[in-house]
Amino acid sequence: MKTLGIIGGMSPESTVTYYKQINQLVNQRLGGNTSAKIVMVSVEFEEIVQCQKSGNWQQAGEILATAGRQLEQIGADGVLLATNTMHKVAQPIIDAINVPFLHILDATAQAIKAKNLSKVALLGTRFTMQDNFYKDGLMERGITPIVPTDEVQQEIHRIIFEELCVGKFTPQSKAFYLKTIEELQQQGAQGVILGCTEIGLLVQQADSALPFFDTAELHSQMAVEFVLS
Ligand code: GLU
Repeated sequence: MKTLGIIGGMSPESTVTYYKQINQLVNQRLGGNTSAKIVMVSVEFEEIVQCQKSGNWQQAGEILATAGRQLEQIGADGVLLATNTMHKVAQPIIDAINVPFLHILDATAQAIKAKNLSKVALLGTRFTMQDNFYKDGLMERGITPIVPTDEVQQEIHRIIFEELCVGKFTPQSKAFYLKTIEELQQQGAQGVILGCTEIGLLVQQADSALPFFDTAELHSQMAVEFVLS
């Protein structure tokens, strides 16, 4: 089995999801007491949040590239960045390592295409919904994203950082997310990308008839395919 390197801690809440899902999936496939071989660098999330707020993506890229290098040095055969937003600085990480980088958009686009869908709603942080790195990345992979209005984006973003990333889950926020998903469906969305790794902790497929693409789950599945290949 290959060793997976995880750059985690963004936020710790969703890194737990990855850790659990990857180990469970490996165990389902191999049985007994099997688990995944994982090395991890868990960054200090507030440092990253400050870089986001000040627009200092270069510094964020350097922090994460260092983490990638450290993972390779301690034996990672591939590196996974356990957040959507920080894929904005995927390139500096890719440039810093000599092992494969498991890109979250590859995992997501593949699952959407497997269902023959092409137009999907995208929920995530303001950076993910507004900046080009994510939307263009989807378009390059043949997927057209639909995002909520600016006002709704602000609330979606606020809930992520003030609640989900610190382990707070409220019925009001859940209702807001589900209402947004319904509105985007009315605008033609055939599915919805939970494009922030914490959203799956708030809303689940059972809450909606629209197909959900939970990036943390799809990325974890991709990681398992990689380590067992
Ligand atoms: N985990 C989130 C994401 O998938 C947001 C936290 C972050 O800014 O990295 O985008």
